[in-house]
Amino acid sequence: MVFKIPLSFPEFSLMEGQYLQQALQSGQLATNGPFIHQFETKLSKRLKTHQVVALNSGTSALHLALVLLGIGPGDEVICQSFTFCASANPIVYLGAKPVFVDSESETWNISPEILEDTILSRIALGKKPKAIVCVHLFGLPAKMKEIMDISGKYQIPVIEDAAEAVGSTLNGQLCGTFGTLGIYSFNGNKIITSGGGGALIGQDSSLIEKARYLSTQAREDLPYYHHLDIGYNYKMTNMAAAVGLAQLERLDEIVMRRKHINQQYKELMADFPGISFQENSGATDSNFWLTSILIDEEIAGFTNDRLRVVLLKNGIETRFLWKPLHLQPIYREVPFYGGKVAENLFLRGLCLPSSTSLSREDQEHIVKLIEKEYKKVV
Ligand SMILES: *Cc1c(COP(=O)(O)O)cnc(C)c1O
Repeated sequence: MVFKIPLSFPEFSLMEGQYLQQALQSGQLATNGPFIHQFETKLSKRLKTHQVVALNSGTSALHLALVLLGIGPGDEVICQSFTFCASANPIVYLGAKPVFVDSESETWNISPEILEDTILSRIALGKKPKAIVCVHLFGLPAKMKEIMDISGKYQIPVIEDAAEAVGSTLNGQLCGTFGTLGIYSFNGNKIITSGGGGALIGQDSSLIEKARYLSTQAREDLPYYHHLDIGYNYKMTNMAAAVGLAQLERLDEIVMRRKHINQQYKELMADFPGISFQENSGATDSNFWLTSILIDEEIAGFTNDRLRVVLLKNGIETRFLWKPLHLQPIYREVPFYGGKVAENLFLRGLCLPSSTSLSREDQEHIVKLIEKEYKKVV
């Protein structure tokens, strides 16, 4: 379906086309070529202390992160419940078992208190978790200080799923750089895109080198094909890296634009009763990949679904917040720790159109349609 106003549409400058043209002319479209290295170098310069391996998706980055941490059959891995299924699926690929943890209502991300209770409870059952996957939903940083303190206390490594949080910071530090390993996604509707793509980042260069090796079918540097490990075909292509590099060069501009859109929504809807926003709290600086609101039906008089349908009829795409994984049929059997924080956010929330190309007029149009819903309720 083509929307008049899509949720999150990519925007390209002339550079993406130029780099892509160069990649095509060089004939290097696959997993060899200069753009891959340039993309990795540019990203690692930005991260300062971290090494980067460019991959073909955020999901494969998560899968490799778990492999590097030695996760295998029967191991337990704690994962934020309120997230996209790709945060948890790679745990299952390895025959390991997810354990889901609820969110806290300030950042909407994993609750440090419940995380610690969960660890203690699993240890009491004789199953110490092998890793923790935390997420920065819609770009807003999780409580990483508390999470890393718990990680240190119990000696459990953290994989930071920063798929949605490229360019977000907490106390000035970039999301993705707090955990033992971090991942980014450059899928089509993420903050910057390479078509499909991802990256695994970490400070430990031996881990990142191992990921690089595993991502290209674990090929030894020999004149013939010789394999000591089972590898994966997970490397980013040169063609994707060409687009990704041009996008990365414009990341600051794109993040500024998304933040501006968020600011404008807040101003335009400042006195809309029963509507609140996912908001920064002190130290967090979200990239506001998607502006997300909560609707209190008792005050507003309408639900998130009502708003979704009204906007859809006007060609405007919105999206529910992620349906928590502990409520997903495929994860019925998985242990869950917490209450109803994530569930209530899901029941009340909506992501609003947040493309960098969203015009002021379109934004005002969206807000007018929301305003009209109040007039229908008397
Ligand atoms: C998009 C996303 C992923 C997966 O990234 P892909 O590049 O689509 O594989 C993982 N986690 C979260 C939270 C995401 O939003």
